Amino acid sequence: MSNKPQCVKCPRMLCYPIIAATEKPSFEEAPRFCPSKSKQDVIERSVREYDKEEIREFARLASVQEFQCYEKTPNGLMTRIPRIEETIQFAQKNAFKRLGLAFCVGLAGEARMVSGILEGKGFEVISVCCKAGAIPKERIGIRPEEKILGPDRYESMCNPITQAEILNSEDVDFAILIGLCVGHDTLFIKYCKVPMTVLAVKDRVTGHNPLAAVYLSQSYYARLLIPASA
Ligand code: SF4
Repeated sequence: MSNKPQCVKCPRMLCYPIIAATEKPSFEEAPRFCPSKSKQDVIERSVREYDKEEIREFARLASVQEFQCYEKTPNGLMTRIPRIEETIQFAQKNAFKRLGLAFCVGLAGEARMVSGILEGKGFEVISVCCKAGAIPKERIGIRPEEKILGPDRYESMCNPITQAEILNSEDVDFAILIGLCVGHDTLFIKYCKVPMTVLAVKDRVTGHNPLAAVYLSQSYYARLLIPASA
């Protein structure tokens, strides 16, 4: 069996042990593919990044925010707030003032609502639509028959690099992605130089909830489980 990391196949999850704070996790019984065991060098090197003061503080605030998303009740641990509030609280903790929204034209209404909510909470909001620049799709080699609106219509390309560069040039403290397509989001993330998070991912058929299809993979989306033919 290969020892390439395969955490999804882990039977034990020993990296998330239920032990006292004074005890030490043990990986003696971990599977061969366990990166906690086989990638010690990478772990040591990457964890040293948290020694940088700014990174450590950002990570600390993220974990404090995570903690505050739960509450202990007589009925057990309960969740408290949706992601939009988690995002707002995290931005407040970091004293971010100027937020950037990079949104898909297909979610312009949602982006407008989010912008209004953020402004109401006292943030300055800079927003950039994926079509900014109105560059024709032909610029990146799209053929007329590959245009969604038809070969005879002008069709602006999704332009995530420009979205990222505009937000970079506006010196926003924190960028928030709303609904960019797969691949366009990849480019935005590659070119965005400010800290960023994702509020929503696009899923055209599930109301932007991609896991809905995963949950239904035993039934209505059983085609997901059909192996790819060789
Ligand atoms: S890191 Fe190791 S113990 Fe944790 S889930 Fe992955 S394989 Fe399992």
